Amino acid sequence: MFDNLTNILDLGIFSDLEKQIMNENKVEFNKQINDFMKTSRAASKLSYCYCCGREIGSFCNSHTVPAFCLRNIAVNGKVSTLNSIIDFPLLNNDKGVAQAGTFQLICRDCDSKIFSDYENPYSYDELPTQKMLAQISLKNNLKFISKRRIEKEFFTCMLEKNNMIQNFTDAKHFVQELDLNEYINAFNKAKKALEKGWNEYYLCYYEKLNYTVPIAFQGCISIAIDFDGSIINDIYNQSSKYILKPIHICIFPFEASSIIMMFIENGDKRYRNFYKTFSKLELSDKLLTLLYIILAYSEDFYISPRIYDVATKNEEVVRISQKGQDIFSLTPYFDPYALLKKQFDLEERKKLPNFLLEEYRMDKE
Ligand SMILES: [Zn+2]
Repeated sequence: MFDNLTNILDLGIFSDLEKQIMNENKVEFNKQINDFMKTSRAASKLSYCYCCGREIGSFCNSHTVPAFCLRNIAVNGKVSTLNSIIDFPLLNNDKGVAQAGTFQLICRDCDSKIFSDYENPYSYDELPTQKMLAQISLKNNLKFISKRRIEKEFFTCMLEKNNMIQNFTDAKHFVQELDLNEYINAFNKAKKALEKGWNEYYLCYYEKLNYTVPIAFQGCISIAIDFDGSIINDIYNQSSKYILKPIHICIFPFEASSIIMMFIENGDKRYRNFYKTFSKLELSDKLLTLLYIILAYSEDFYISPRIYDVATKNEEVVRISQKGQDIFSLTPYFDPYALLKKQFDLEERKKLPNFLLEEYRMDKE
């Protein structure tokens, strides 16, 4: 239900007092946000499948992270989400596997066909194929298209209910529109690659671990800052000519192994230094880097309830999970780059417990 909310509400900017107020008015807040989300979802709903274009009445509840991966980290059918780490009063902490990270944009027929190679654990006996990478890219972009469409309606809705000022809503809409177009282009590219059998992706990292990690993630992230502090993606550049280049990251827990991988579009030079430096790191540090990146940049990862206590009691995990680029994206009063460098400093990974190491493995009694 609240999947798309964390980003909208700029997590982490709330003070203890604000959280207290929200907690005291939890029922009312929840009801209002529920209403907004309901309206936004309804307003963003299409009448056709985004993939095949067929007219449809009901959509598939598509999972971003394959459900079979979530099952491997679930306890009693539940996985935990970001909110369980950052203690946000309004959102639900635990989600059933069926609702975790889903979007409704395509028909059941498409959902069962277009991701079938990469969603099959037996496909990973060998290196992932171009087809699998295109399928992952297709889905990552679909998820963002769905998300941005709903967010756009959410801000319209807030404006209509006088909870937002016009300028702020316009600025948000402008950024969302640019963002949406980039995801649509990347979606079209992936779709074409699948149809034509083109090689469009470069696998910069692939690792098969012989144990089940307690974290599941699939998504694309526009990494802002490199290991040496230089800028990879200028996330403040709002020119329609500047395109953010995301990197796809997968952390897939299997029954007795895990797949960790990272890939980009062919010819994308922006990440060259990043993955060159990355490739020289020790395995444990590579895993730690990826853990830091998903915690700091994304709200869409899943953790096993098995590590819930360790994660939520660790101050650094909580602090790093609260980072969000949205927080200050509309405040031009200071040098955003200095702050950005500080905010996404990869050195900070060293403060995290490395949940991707064998000591946290799921397949251990
Ligand atoms: Zn379809």
